[in-house]
Amino acid sequence: MDNHDPELIAELMEAIGAVARTGAFTGGSAVERFERAFAAWSEAEYAIGVSSGTEALTLALRALELKPGDEVIVPANSFVATAEAVWLAGGVPRFADVDANTQLVTAQTVQAAHTGRVRGIIPVHLFGRTVEISGIAELAHKWGAWIVEDCAQAHGARCGGCRVGTLGDAGTFSFYPAKNLGAWGDAGAVVTNREDVAERIRLLRSHGESPRYHHRMVGTTGRLDAVQAAVLERKLLRLEQWNADRRRVASQLRDALREAEHVLAPPDAGDPFDHVYHQFVVRSSERDLLRAHLEQRGIASAIHYPVPIHRSEAFSAQNSTADVAPIATLLAEQNCSLPIFPTMTQAQVERVAEAVCDFAPASALKRAAA
Ligand SMILES: *Cc1c(COP(=O)(O)O)cnc(C)c1O
Repeated sequence: MDNHDPELIAELMEAIGAVARTGAFTGGSAVERFERAFAAWSEAEYAIGVSSGTEALTLALRALELKPGDEVIVPANSFVATAEAVWLAGGVPRFADVDANTQLVTAQTVQAAHTGRVRGIIPVHLFGRTVEISGIAELAHKWGAWIVEDCAQAHGARCGGCRVGTLGDAGTFSFYPAKNLGAWGDAGAVVTNREDVAERIRLLRSHGESPRYHHRMVGTTGRLDAVQAAVLERKLLRLEQWNADRRRVASQLRDALREAEHVLAPPDAGDPFDHVYHQFVVRSSERDLLRAHLEQRGIASAIHYPVPIHRSEAFSAQNSTADVAPIATLLAEQNCSLPIFPTMTQAQVERVAEAVCDFAPASALKRAAA
């Protein structure tokens, strides 16, 4: 992957060296340069660098003045951080189910999760696929609620011509190393076109301080490191190409999986939507057998995610016995992420696809024989 590219490593080491020589490790010109570049690249007015994707979400919710007990609609099918941030900001997550085909929230599932205490909605562009925002934005408008897009898996994806992150009140990004744009450690950012939100996040990420030792609000230590900013500034220049490579690999994988009888490949994004394939997730009713079969052939796979958030130990206490998100529960039993990365070759794609295609679970054979 990109971290095995010796030229890139040399370039990033030099960028880090330049930061070390200035001695400005928090804030300073490296952070400001990355923020300007990321705002321009995101086609947003403002970008504020923060310490992680979880902190980006938490600070965005605080900047939007979430009050204790306010409810925020989040997908049951996401990484846990989406719901954690609501909790950390003093709110209560309300879990929305997802569409089985796209694995994303829709206006219908968001509507079904609504209560009179809902103050905001966090659509997640999960696995890199863009959520259909327009219907959700209409609901938000009707309810007087805000929208924060969780773009942690969808850097650079477009929806109806606009970059993700600019479709609601704010958009949040994680630069955890494994993301489509990854730092050399933890990092994140918020983008927004709202000056008031940008201003509050800038204060909140550094103890509400302005000027020095004058604290205007209770903030935190949530700044972006200068070393990470320098790495990200360089890697950002390659992101468009990496995303294009991921789309190419995904389309090759999808073609090669046409004959696979026991797995369902992820559908193409379709205009005006987009997919930057942070993950390539197939579904199988015999998922665990499929993974064992792949492992025997030396192919690593993963599960995103084995437990839907609303049924996790951390959040299950909030739910009644009836499953509020049965599709998310089903997907947790069937999802299997196949290998995908920008430098994946056609030969590697074929090796993965062949292993998937010759998967023949006993239960399916039994059905065929009956
Ligand atoms: C990675 C991720 C986060 C959290 O980002 P961190 O940088 O790990 O805190 C939030 N939401 C989603 C959907 C993610 O994939």
